[in-house]
Amino acid sequence: MTSASQPLELDSAVYKTLLESTKAIPWKLDWATMKFAYIGPQIESLLGWPQSSWVGSEDWANRMHPEDRAWVVDYCVAKSIEGEDHEADYRAMTKDGGYVWIRDVVHVVRNPDGTANSLMGFMFDISERKKTEEKLIAMQKKLEELSFKDGLTGVANRRMFDSVMEVEWLNARRNNQPLSLIMVDIDYFKQYNDHYGHIQGDESLKSVAQALSKVATRSRDFCARFGGEEFVIVLPETDAAAANKVAERCNQMIFKEQILHAKSQISQVLTISLGVGTIIPKVEDESLAFIHEVDRLLYLAKQKGRNRIVSHAG
Ligand code: GH3
Ligand code: MG
Ligand code: MG
Repeated sequence: MTSASQPLELDSAVYKTLLESTKAIPWKLDWATMKFAYIGPQIESLLGWPQSSWVGSEDWANRMHPEDRAWVVDYCVAKSIEGEDHEADYRAMTKDGGYVWIRDVVHVVRNPDGTANSLMGFMFDISERKKTEEKLIAMQKKLEELSFKDGLTGVANRRMFDSVMEVEWLNARRNNQPLSLIMVDIDYFKQYNDHYGHIQGDESLKSVAQALSKVATRSRDFCARFGGEEFVIVLPETDAAAANKVAERCNQMIFKEQILHAKSQISQVLTISLGVGTIIPKVEDESLAFIHEVDRLLYLAKQKGRNRIVSHAG
């Protein structure tokens, strides 16, 4: 029996059993020679490399994902020189070429003068945790996409348009630059749906979105689905003449798609109507009023017979 006054004596066999029966893998590295004094046999079942193949620090470094290697080695060496305990997460390479996420927790055993004598630590398998983390990141990304991207066509949605428009409006006002906006509406799309069905209607919407998003090519040009079968293109630092050219290209691109529309009253193929507005916003101007103005131009294009562009520089 051991009492509180008699400290528990553990012989090395007990230590060894304890260390080698845990999931964490214990190890010890001699600092002067950079050779392993010990590594737990569990390493083989985790990574496939036999215990005896872990000779020195270069085996540890070489069996690491190339993207992790440089920073992990630099970080661990720097911390060891400072004599500071540390930990690092990295991908360890398995014998069959796969990777396992490891958290290496390192204790620096120091000489009386403070320099490193040896490193001792535990490697923990954190793949499950990393998988959960990665899943969360992927879900987050998906969520961002879902909230800024239109689910059907893949172009930006109305919400994204509102944010972009706000930013570009302020930019144009601050820099006294023209800002152009094109609003697009498909002609006789209700008849298209009625004749070809909603599924094919959706397919055509996708084609139109893809075609329109290819028209404007400058880096800040922006195309979004405004709603239903309406799209918008924001053209920063673009004057009326240039915006008109873009609008003409929209027409050409949609014509090139040759989407048959048997029930259109003006063409054999699907066509669009466009309103184009340009403004150098002044302090008293409102972006919403400008959007309404461009929408009115689009309405005029419809009234004048569709498949055309109506523009106006404000
Ligand atoms: P107009 O030439 O005057 O624009 O005629 P239109 O029939 O296109 O006019 P309107 O804007 O009244 O009708 C739009 C139609 O677009 C209504 C609806 O059937 C169709 N639509 C809107 N959103 C979708 C969608 O997500 N998928 C499909 N397939 N059709 C849609
Ligand atoms: Mg419409
Ligand atoms: Mg329409």
